[in-house]
Amino acid sequence: MRRAVLLCTMALLAVASGPAQPRKLKVYISADMEGIGGVSTWQIQAGSQGREYEKFRRLMTQEVNAAIAGAFDAGATEVLVSDSHGDGQNIDVELLDPRARLVRAWPRPLIMMQGVDSTFDAVAFVGYHASEGQPAAILAHTMSSRRIFEIKLNDTVVPEAAFNAAIAGEFSVPVVFLSGDQTIGEEARRLLGPIETAAVKQASGFFSATMMHPEGAQRLIRTGVKRGVERRGELKPYKLAHPVKLEITFKDTVNAELVSYLPGVERPRGNAVVFTARDTLEAAKFLEAVMNLNAF
Ligand SMILES: [Zn+2]
Repeated sequence: MRRAVLLCTMALLAVASGPAQPRKLKVYISADMEGIGGVSTWQIQAGSQGREYEKFRRLMTQEVNAAIAGAFDAGATEVLVSDSHGDGQNIDVELLDPRARLVRAWPRPLIMMQGVDSTFDAVAFVGYHASEGQPAAILAHTMSSRRIFEIKLNDTVVPEAAFNAAIAGEFSVPVVFLSGDQTIGEEARRLLGPIETAAVKQASGFFSATMMHPEGAQRLIRTGVKRGVERRGELKPYKLAHPVKLEITFKDTVNAELVSYLPGVERPRGNAVVFTARDTLEAAKFLEAVMNLNAF
């Protein structure tokens, strides 16, 4: 039905002002590093001091380029990428596909989704990882591996993929694709529905996985993103009921104690706080502030 309305509008525009402009198709790509093919530890690949970091930031850029290519294969006219790992400055700007624009560095109010809005048509996650506490999940954590054990939104444990999907959901934009290990793929499909996933590695523990060649991973990502963007009409945005209850369980109790001094913050357990946000965008800003305070 929406399509018919659009065609009518375009027909009217064509009559009024000559040939219609081609329709825009905007794709947002949020890229992390733990779920890039070949990455198994922070110490060697995913930390900026690591022995193989320079190689793996290049491979991260190539996986992002594969996703960009898949989006354009499906008819995208614009792609925005957010570098959402570590210090937010991993993607090699010279090697990035020049058709895309890039969000870098922190802090930023929408964290791993900075720049997404209602003008976008689809979201893809590249290099993602599962939430902490699962037996076979590479480098599993949620937002801060140092400070946070678990995040719940409206009483559901969410991996970063679902938190970020809920941000896109505020703008009615569906997530259509995710790449990472097999565990985050399963977690994402359970929460977000039948999105396209690419398991670029089979995790056997927290640090170990069976890898495929980078070219194979990039092929899977390109075809998966293309299929996902083509299927965007049948995939539902991940929308949460308002207000949004954000529950953060910290690794250290003193962090929960300090955050609980803020007005409006509850402390249901010694190591957890609850903040009731107007929506996921407000929850994201609260979380970004809490994660970036250096006092604790
Ligand atoms: Zn990361």
